[in-house]
Amino acid sequence: MASIADHQASIIDGKAIAQTIRSEIAEEVQHLSQKYGKVPGLAVVIVGNRKDSQSYVNMKRKACAEVGIKSFDVDLPEKVSEDELIQKVDELNADPDVHGILVQLPLPKHINEEKVLSEISIDKDVDGFHPLNIGKLAMKGREPLFQPCTPKGCLELLSRSGISVKGKKAVVVGRSNIVGLPVSLLLLKADATVTVVHSHTSNPESIIREADIVIAAAGQAMMIKGDWIKPGAAVIDVGTNAVDDPSKKAGYRLVGDVDFQEACKVAGWVTPVPGGVGPMTVAMLLKNTLDGAKRKIAQ
Ligand code: NAP
Repeated sequence: MASIADHQASIIDGKAIAQTIRSEIAEEVQHLSQKYGKVPGLAVVIVGNRKDSQSYVNMKRKACAEVGIKSFDVDLPEKVSEDELIQKVDELNADPDVHGILVQLPLPKHINEEKVLSEISIDKDVDGFHPLNIGKLAMKGREPLFQPCTPKGCLELLSRSGISVKGKKAVVVGRSNIVGLPVSLLLLKADATVTVVHSHTSNPESIIREADIVIAAAGQAMMIKGDWIKPGAAVIDVGTNAVDDPSKKAGYRLVGDVDFQEACKVAGWVTPVPGGVGPMTVAMLLKNTLDGAKRKIAQ
């Protein structure tokens, strides 16, 4: 008989699940193109030359091309004024070939991010960050036009791994506008009983230990230890933290908010970092763009 020491959690392969979703999207894009002669369009706006932002933007543009989504590239200089950026967003709002608008964050300090994001038309808000979309996410009986990509990706990983949410105890670690808060709202909408742990929570381990589902999004390397996890729980690790590792060419490696090796011995399911939630974020962006386009093209 297998002992607890032999226990091995199922690893949720986010890369493979994201690839399946991308293939499904590519098929739907082809169908739209054949039936209506139109394809979804995503405008990806970047301001300045931050290396990390550029690599995220390139990844998103390449992902669009792979599934047949037309990407509208808007590259603006670091010094662009807030008014000029808002004018660009307004042009994209008015362009019928653009079904989604993504403004890569962070923006330079002289630009008010909140003002720019609020300017994006809610029916093109594929990042799902517009206050109206978040507000609808929070309200019973209302549906946002778009759900934020990373949180949506977490729920998709659960459902495609056959893990039901309804009636389960879920603990979300983190309450940011882009991950923790919206993922807690999505879990609530899916009928979980949700607790949110943040930096002022006392004794987080005792709360996390009660959870059937843990969503870790604190940005704290390997904070969640094996003995914080309830045996058999599903653990979705959003955290992406660089830790020094002289054995790597880059001098660092990426780890999650969960101690993966320890979690494997206790959890029922666990996502790796990298290769878990990360690939799902881009897949959900493509899905949101497709859904936005379907509402316009196939009405
Ligand atoms: P963030 O804005 O820094 O928010 C972190 C949240 O965690 C805050 O709510 C903070 O609480 C809470 N927190 C910090 N330390 C804590 C602790 N010791 N115990 C409990 N809660 C704690 O970060 P974020 O943007 O949400 O990102 C979170 C992580 O996810 C980061 O590692 C980020 O790189 C990663 N991420 C990954 C993806 C992906 O696609 N894979 C996408 C987005 C983010 P307070 O509110 O009290 O300050």
